[in-house]
Formats: sequence, structure tokens, C-alpha cells
Amino acid sequence: MALAPSPLPIIDLRSDTVTRPTPAMLAAMQAAAVGDDVYDEDPTVRELETSLAARFGMEAGLFCPSGTMTNQLAIMAHCAPVSEVICEATAHVYLWEVGGIMHHARASVALLPGERGRLTASQVAGAVRPAGNVHYPTTRLVCLENTHNRGGGSCYAWEDLKEIAAFTKKQGLALHLDGARIFNALVATGQRSEDYGKLFDSISVCLSKGLGAPVGSVLLGAQELINGCKRLRKLFGGGWRQAGYLAAAGLYALENNVARLADDHRRAAQLAGALRPLPYVAEILEPETNLVIFRLDESRLTVADFLARLEAQGIRASGFGGSWVRFVTHLDVTEEMLTRLLAALPGLAG
Ligand SMILES: *Cc1c(COP(=O)(O)O)cnc(C)c1O
Repeated sequence: MALAPSPLPIIDLRSDTVTRPTPAMLAAMQAAAVGDDVYDEDPTVRELETSLAARFGMEAGLFCPSGTMTNQLAIMAHCAPVSEVICEATAHVYLWEVGGIMHHARASVALLPGERGRLTASQVAGAVRPAGNVHYPTTRLVCLENTHNRGGGSCYAWEDLKEIAAFTKKQGLALHLDGARIFNALVATGQRSEDYGKLFDSISVCLSKGLGAPVGSVLLGAQELINGCKRLRKLFGGGWRQAGYLAAAGLYALENNVARLADDHRRAAQLAGALRPLPYVAEILEPETNLVIFRLDESRLTVADFLARLEAQGIRASGFGGSWVRFVTHLDVTEEMLTRLLAALPGLAG
């Protein structure tokens, strides 16, 4: 059956990375003071790095093109050869970064099953390799993810983070946070960004997810770690020049687009509420932030049909493996669009 294209604007809920800069953000980018960042002469890059570091209680920051790069630089910097990294089995750093832990850090990975992506201190403790045994790699790093993408935007409780950090500190292990959506976690839980620097040795923060900047991620950590990562970034070919135009978008996003994440969270909850009673929905990971992940009863409606019928109405979602689908709310999803989506959902199995 040929489906007629929808004349209405596309509602793109595949990811919070699809947002486009607003005229105000573009104006801020155009007005940025810039210089050659490889010469350390870009004032706007410097402002982004230092202000975000201060905001998280860290010494220094490093502006990079992507969250994959900030995560992988940190992992590489924390690991000596023949290391092992502990992370959750569906962590972005393991699942969706092209096997970079193996390639860049040449480290092995100990995967733990999390509760919606969350690990506990006792799980981490159980995965540390005994020292002094010739058979084992050396455990050096624990990576956490907050919010957790595959876990459906789940957030860590502060107590759990503190316990894990107390353990890694005691053991002399490094602790890295993949905070691609850390601002979603902060807004949802009321935790304070400046406290995070006390727990983690490095934090990767994305500006191009819910915050709506077109490009960019910042790695935060101690000055010495960041100095090392800056060299590694150059090794990756990531030394860039007048990056201040992009940093300005990040600064604008941090200034204007953090508090409004609460709107995305409210809309995600509304969306989950509308999905719950539908006969073709088998299971929902109750949204804690802006990700709505749910499983279809494919005897009633297959993922392929669900996505095609949405697409026919100008609505986009992501297949998320098996019978799972993901909707992501973000700053380009308006109240009007949500209404249109909620109206469309009940008729899709027909
Ligand atoms: C998006 C994302 C990243 C980084 O992705 P890039 O596309 O490389 O910027 C890292 N971790 C998580 C949890 C993410 O969702």
C-alpha cells in the first residue's frame, strides 16, 4: 500500500540530537569572539571549558566535537596497557562507541547487568580483578552513565553514586561519568552539578543532546588529566581552530536550555501515560527523564508497521532492538506536536 506523505511538519522523536539551532542561538554564534584554539587563543572556547568545569566542581574542561570523543579520551587517559574497564552491559561506551575501549585503550571490559543501566557499589566490588595474579588484567576504571540511555533515561540516586565513588576511591580506581544527558538527571533529581566533581575523576557532558547545540561535548576533570587528553585529542585529529563559534552555541544552550528540560520530562511522562493503555504496547520503561522506551506486542502490531504508520503521519521514532521502540522528547517537540502524536497513537494498530 502506498502511503501518502503528510503535509504537516515532521515530528521527529528519534533522538534529542535532531534539534536545530534557533535564530537566537545562531546570533550568539555569529557574535562570538574567536581565535585559533590550537594556539589556545579562542576566548569563547576557554569560557565554555572553564565555566562548565566550575559548574561541576572540576579544575578544567576540554571542548570536543562529540561525546564519543570525550568518553574515549577519558578512558584512554585513565587506562595503562593491559587494563580492564568495568561498565554496565548496555553502556554507551561499550555498545555504541565502535569498540573504542578495545581500540584506543586496548583494555578489556567487565560487563555488569544493571537495573535499567544502574550499577551498585557491591556489583562493582565483585567485578574488580584480584591484584597480583598473573592471569588477570588490572582493573583501572569504572564507567557510569547518567542518565542511562538504554535504561530509558534512568537516573542514579545520589546515595548510590556516593557509595560507588567511595569504593573506587578506596581501591585506587578511576571513576568516569558518561554524562551525555547529565543535565536531564540534574533537573529530574534536583542533584547539584557542583557536587559531581567530588565523586568523579572525569565527566563527559554533551551540549548537542537535550541542550540543543548543533555540535559539542566537554570533558571535565583535573588539570593534569585534561592536559593529557588535549594531547590525545590532537592525536585523534581533533585539534580545531576557531571552534569558538561552536562553543558559543554551547554557552547559549547552558544559559537558556537547562531549566526547560523539565518540559521534555513532563511530555515524556504524558506520552508514556498515553501508551500504557494501548493494547499493542506490552511493556514500558517508566520514563524518569526525556526517553520513552517501550516494547510492542508484535502479535498485534510489528515494529516495522508501527514505524511506517507513524512515518505516514509525519512522525518519527526509533526502533530500539527487538520489539522495542524509543521516543525522545526535546526542545523542537512542541505542545502542538505532542497533541498530534497522542491523537495518532490509538489508531495505529487498525
Ligand atoms: C549520545 C551519547 C553519547 C555521545 O554520542 P556522540 O554522538 O558521539 O556525541 C555518549 N553517551 C551517551 C549515553 C549518549 O546518549
